[in-house]
Amino acid sequence: MSTMITEECINCGACEPECPNGAIKQGQDIFVINPALCTECVGFHDEEQCAFVCPVDCCVPDPNIPETEAVLLERARQIHPTHKIPLLVDLPAHMSRFRKAP
Ligand code: SF4
Repeated sequence: MSTMITEECINCGACEPECPNGAIKQGQDIFVINPALCTECVGFHDEEQCAFVCPVDCCVPDPNIPETEAVLLERARQIHPTHKIPLLVDLPAHMSRFRKAP
């Protein structure tokens, strides 16, 4: 599922440079995430980097856009065709929040 930014956003901009996909932009009032570019950081990190750096915890899962790890990984591979992102079967734990220990 895509991550979304809630209206609690204080426009600090901390999230924007952390996104591996360039999915975050300044919107009219607050920063916004393009769900077509968000991969929940699958393929790069084991947690959503925007949420990790947000000082007010306003980067949260969008319950209206549920997506599987496979879909998110394929998106990452399409966004970064020259980047060596492993196939799903070979994806290490540090590249997917789905593989984090509970
Ligand atoms: Fe970008 Fe990751 Fe945040 Fe999605 S979860 S907007 S890919 S930093």
